[in-house]
Amino acid sequence: MVIVLEQSITPDQAETLKKYLLERRIGARREKGEHYDVLVTADSEHAQVPREIAGLPGVRRIVPMTESFLLASRDFRSANTVIEQDGFRVGDTPVVLFSGPCAVEDADQMETCAAAVKAAGGAVLRGGSFKPRTSPYAFQGLGEEGLRLHREAANRHGLMMMSEVLDREDLDLVAGYADILQVGSRNMQNFPLLKALGRQAKPVMLKRGLASTREEFLLAAEYILMGGNGRVILCERGIRSFDPSLRNNLDLASVCLLKEMTHLPVVVDPSHATGTRSLVLPMARAAAAVGADGIMVEVHPAPENALSDGPQALRIEDLPVLARDLAAIAPLVGRTFGTTP
Ligand code: PEP
Ligand code: MN
Repeated sequence: MVIVLEQSITPDQAETLKKYLLERRIGARREKGEHYDVLVTADSEHAQVPREIAGLPGVRRIVPMTESFLLASRDFRSANTVIEQDGFRVGDTPVVLFSGPCAVEDADQMETCAAAVKAAGGAVLRGGSFKPRTSPYAFQGLGEEGLRLHREAANRHGLMMMSEVLDREDLDLVAGYADILQVGSRNMQNFPLLKALGRQAKPVMLKRGLASTREEFLLAAEYILMGGNGRVILCERGIRSFDPSLRNNLDLASVCLLKEMTHLPVVVDPSHATGTRSLVLPMARAAAAVGADGIMVEVHPAPENALSDGPQALRIEDLPVLARDLAAIAPLVGRTFGTTP
């Protein structure tokens, strides 16, 4: 439950409200908005905030259960959220490159990818060690061994490490290695997982669900924000369409629309959006041109032998081409890439 405070709430009124909530054992956290602050009550008590609170001095309204996202909205915060972690920044002027293999396979593969991502001006080394595969017979990821190889390669090249958390059970393990936690499309509405991610401090990349509306996407982000973790990066990765000739349909209008609807950074993943190597670079260029805050692409030293998503993996030699193109396009839309001013 969210309690919207009057802009004019006095310290005394805020104190009375806090006491009132405490007497009823309702924990609440204050979140600063641009035009008004809100009190976000603890998860287990969402349903129990008495309606009479709406009548207390300093309270503008209680957000009804049926209302859409609020903390994620531009109305609540008009300035872009910039997410920072150990020198990494997304949501700011530079377009950020996230790249790496679909799945972590072995040390050589990670070393080759990490070196190439770094050389191309990338900031984040991606790679799954817990893989959400459509078939239970497909490669499921190396688990902790993969996280270890991933961490070592990221460290050697001064890159951030991003890896997917498939299950609440694995959260502490993955968070023990990774700098950024990825939530895959299939888990966008895994609400217990989203709540758990809201209670921990690491940035989260939330991927749009396979057939989710933008509102559902932002409501999923709202779950994480409500828990107290404001560092959510949205990732547009295409949505299911009727046409099987591409893996998904890249919804580029979403990048612009989401940026109107929310202050959170929006990254585009043309790899999963198209499933087709030849389309990844053109769609990455298009994503940069419409104002994406970052581009995420899969890369593999030998895509034909990849254990997952080989047909969409860029070759190592494609990354410098992508870097050159991003450096050319970014300034046209008021952004930078790599060393461009
Ligand atoms: C991924 O990025 O590793 C992935 C599995 O993508 P998605 O969840 O978008 O299908
Ligand atoms: Mn993949």
